[in-house]
Amino acid sequence: MPETIKINGVSIDRGEKVLTKLVISKLPSGTVIDIPVYVFRSVHDGPVLLLMAGMHGDEVNGTEIIRRMLTKKMLYPLKGTIIAVPVLNIYGFLNFSRDVPDGKDVNRSFPGNKEGSLASRVAHRFMKEVMPYVDYGVDFHTGGSSRGNYPQIRCVLSDTRNQELAEAFAAPFTLNAPFRQGSLRKEAAKLGKRILVYETGESLRFDERGIKVGIEGTCRLLHHLGMSTSCTPASEPTTVCMKDIWLRAKNAGLFRSLVKEGEYVKKNQNIGSITDPYGEMDVRLNAPAAGYVVGLNNMPVVNQGDALLHIAF
Ligand SMILES: [Zn+2]
Repeated sequence: MPETIKINGVSIDRGEKVLTKLVISKLPSGTVIDIPVYVFRSVHDGPVLLLMAGMHGDEVNGTEIIRRMLTKKMLYPLKGTIIAVPVLNIYGFLNFSRDVPDGKDVNRSFPGNKEGSLASRVAHRFMKEVMPYVDYGVDFHTGGSSRGNYPQIRCVLSDTRNQELAEAFAAPFTLNAPFRQGSLRKEAAKLGKRILVYETGESLRFDERGIKVGIEGTCRLLHHLGMSTSCTPASEPTTVCMKDIWLRAKNAGLFRSLVKEGEYVKKNQNIGSITDPYGEMDVRLNAPAAGYVVGLNNMPVVNQGDALLHIAF
């Protein structure tokens, strides 16, 4: 662990707690856009854990998880350092949007470029200022609009350290998730840093169960890393899924699901139907594989090709 951490030109010594605001740019109105970064340092040597949310500005469950942990003073580590970023994409947060105003996704823009698009600049600044210090991290996300995710950790499970961290977090499900181009997770891994993605609920909606699971999981991770004295043990070990498949709508119409998130379905089990609004058409939907429903479309009106059901196994 470094003696001094320097973020945004601010030096943070062991035993200090600092809030610094990373200036990114200005809005057309001249309003400064900056990203609050909280740093909590123990006097004792230990790992540096990053907790970050709001990379997609409309995904507020993670923001709420970090906010509650800040409020309850749960982020003072026994050893090492915790860096907490409740909202990375301030633009998206203000606009109820996943992206930044140029329409780009920050999580497809890593490692970023100082002279690039706005998304690329956010990624670049974060990589330069914060990531050099990080050993491990949890990046909090939610499903897209109207698609709810059952609480789950996503990471590359061929990495045994990831496996160990995911087991310690003990979300109901752990999904093996290959790297995506331009994601923080991929760029961090190139530098030997492990980022777990925690997914729960859907964008712009609080998922109370998932928020609670997220806080408890983070506490278990802190405990596992020796950064806290106690945690609530998980009621069950995480269910590990190596593969997953999406069921997409073959027809447009009204979608009704017969299954709930978290439920186990058998292959070819009737999981719902799509009808037209007039009672003329009724298409039965069957599960494409046996597995757990880890994501579900809550939007009753769907178009052809829309993702309906995410099954992991
Ligand atoms: Zn996201």
